[in-house]
Amino acid sequence: MSSTYRGRIAPTPTGYLHLGHARTFWIAMERAKEAGGQLIFRDEDLDPQRCKQEFSQGAIEDLRWFGCDWQEGPDVGGSVGPYRQSERLTTFMTAWEQLKDSGYIYPCEKSRKDVARAAQAPHADEEASEPIYPESWRPPFGHGKDAQSPKDSNWRFRVPEDRTIEFDDIRLGPCAFDCLRDFGDFLVWRRDGVPAYELAVVVDDAAMQISEVVRGEDLLISTARQILLYEALGLQPPQFYHTPLLCDTSGQRLAKRNRSLTLRELREAGHQAEDLRTSEDWWSGLDD
Ligand code: GLU
Repeated sequence: MSSTYRGRIAPTPTGYLHLGHARTFWIAMERAKEAGGQLIFRDEDLDPQRCKQEFSQGAIEDLRWFGCDWQEGPDVGGSVGPYRQSERLTTFMTAWEQLKDSGYIYPCEKSRKDVARAAQAPHADEEASEPIYPESWRPPFGHGKDAQSPKDSNWRFRVPEDRTIEFDDIRLGPCAFDCLRDFGDFLVWRRDGVPAYELAVVVDDAAMQISEVVRGEDLLISTARQILLYEALGLQPPQFYHTPLLCDTSGQRLAKRNRSLTLRELREAGHQAEDLRTSEDWWSGLDD
């Protein structure tokens, strides 16, 4: 059976993967298989300060041990590579240029710290997942249009006013996020020369013809931001399936810094991948 379904798993190699990652990736793989489609492995190794080759290699080894497989990726090749984001900078640069020329983004001298501080001001929206960039700091339209490169500035996407981003998540149903209330002007390029996650992921999901993005539900607001980027770049967004997050017995979300639960350590402690996939923890929060 031939299918146009293309899914992906896209770890960021800043640490060893834990069981929460594995579950999201497992769901992504199952969905690709059920659809008779393809699964792509993409190494999101853009940040030279935080990403390490050891973790890129570790992700491939650990996921293979866990039982995941993919049809395209840095270790197996494929027609839409390279599959490491650090080797795709020219593609991101083209997107930066397109967004800059059409006035969607602007250079910004404020640091994340400045934004966080401003958001502690009395009127800031406490429910926002990330500090909202103050509208009063926005430069006039057209600012930065003459820049030849993104060098030495942060670049932000100018979020439209009075707009709600709506999408139908395959698992969660209708989702809606208000621009400038749930999220504000967000980073697309960092001062240190690295494209931000939101831009890189949209450019690559489109370039790799991904039809469905499976990711954790902690990224729902990112999905709303990314829909704006798809529009601005004239690209068709994929479908979205947000997975529940895996929590430990105390209800805490698993995080990379919770070292005791990396796949590597579980394996070294003698666990079998299959047992992990049938454990009670594994099923926590899953609907079926
Ligand atoms: N590299 C991102 C992460 O590990 C991918 C998120 C996504 O699936 O878009 O969080």
